[in-house]
Amino acid sequence: MLLTLTTTHQPATDLGYLLRKNPMRPQSFSLSFGKAHVFYPEATPERCTVALLVKVDPVGLVRNRRGPAGEGGALEQYVNDRPYAASSFLSVAIADVFASALSGKSKERPELADVPLPLRVTFSALPCRGGEEFLRKLFEPLGYTMSARQLPLDEKFPDWGQSAYYRVELEARLPVQKLLSHLYVLVPVLDNDKHYWVGDDEVEKLLHHGEGWLASHPEREVITRRYLKHQRSLVDDALAQLVGEDEADPDATVETQAQEEEAIERSISLNEQRLSAVLAALKASNAIRVLDLGCGEGRLLQALLNEKQFTEIIGLDVSHRALEIAHARLHYDRLPPVQKERLHLLHGSLIYRDQRLAGFDAAAVVEVIEHLDAPRLAVFERVLFECDKPKTIVITTPNREYNVKWETLPAGKFRHRDHRFEWTRAEFQEWAKCLADSAGYQTRFLPVGPEDPIVGPPTQMAVFQRG
Ligand code: SAH
Repeated sequence: MLLTLTTTHQPATDLGYLLRKNPMRPQSFSLSFGKAHVFYPEATPERCTVALLVKVDPVGLVRNRRGPAGEGGALEQYVNDRPYAASSFLSVAIADVFASALSGKSKERPELADVPLPLRVTFSALPCRGGEEFLRKLFEPLGYTMSARQLPLDEKFPDWGQSAYYRVELEARLPVQKLLSHLYVLVPVLDNDKHYWVGDDEVEKLLHHGEGWLASHPEREVITRRYLKHQRSLVDDALAQLVGEDEADPDATVETQAQEEEAIERSISLNEQRLSAVLAALKASNAIRVLDLGCGEGRLLQALLNEKQFTEIIGLDVSHRALEIAHARLHYDRLPPVQKERLHLLHGSLIYRDQRLAGFDAAAVVEVIEHLDAPRLAVFERVLFECDKPKTIVITTPNREYNVKWETLPAGKFRHRDHRFEWTRAEFQEWAKCLADSAGYQTRFLPVGPEDPIVGPPTQMAVFQRG
């Protein structure tokens, strides 16, 4: 499988610096499925072309059980298109061999890393059962001009007709990093049929490499579905995170902004008071099986784990990063087996029905609703109050009236940049009562944190009880 990348940016040999591969020196790399070779068929100041030749070893693949799933029988494991056609193996090779360029870094030419350069890519054989039209739908919205020639099944036997492979040329003026990230995601999308196993971290990779272009791509759903090989739960997770360009990256949100909120609220360790209030409400409900929806970094999970009453605890979050932090904070890997059985961390979204959440006694939704915009909040209400329907639901959210009391918070600002709203006590209570009435719950409201006589407490909590 051969990929070439050409530039006429001057001096064109800067391409070597951007890719961190010396034009004068061919290099080879060992990969888990074969070898990759990088060399420059031409390298002049006017024009420079780098070639990436990926050699897949089908026998090695069988040994490592990474080959095609064998729908064509045992023979297909040995005789297949992997060595010749662009596939997910090419993406792996790009990520490995051009790692720094793919991450947008250049040690020697940092000023060039973000600059759009005239680039041309050729693929010797790109599989595309959807035909040329599908190729165009993928690449043209990203600014490429494309030419594609369908390859015959066998040049010596024209009667056999055409294959599903294309020789493709793409041209665009883009930063090298952008182009590599497009290829990284779209090549496996084209190679729809056969692929080795897709794991949870593929969602993360897709969102990472799709940053800045996938959310606004008209084919984002098809791309996501095919990249994740139609695995429903993964696709739902990824799409939930991609909705709308305005949506902040949930992981970035978790890492940077949680700290801001924490700094503002630290003076009274509001976090701890909130946790004990929620924990007390859950214990009082006599719940045994509990959900922590939007569990974040797992503080409540830790407290729940310490209470024997709770025999099954699920923490769910849309952010992978948050779950990783929770996993580490709880020392999950080192928990004794009995404890491990009680606690499960799930990657998922509050705005999708999820069978895994059915049949629980209680759910805590702590400082999460304010992260949902109006349409998502409405879906969340339906999913939790009409589908999952735990007996007890505990929801907390900031009390906006209290914001005047935070010294470090500029007037009129929310406590957290990702908050879509912050409600007054009256607004929260009206929302909760209305929801409770229509779903058949009773509500109680409790203050959390020091209560000011005029503006009330910093956090407000509603406990919903199904009658
Ligand atoms: N409950 C935690 C975290 C609150 S921060 C605590 O009190 O510390 C809000 C959390 O909600 C973040 O971890 C964020 O990733 C998560 N979140 C936001 N939207 C979500 C959604 N649609 N589905 C699941 N989790 C979501």
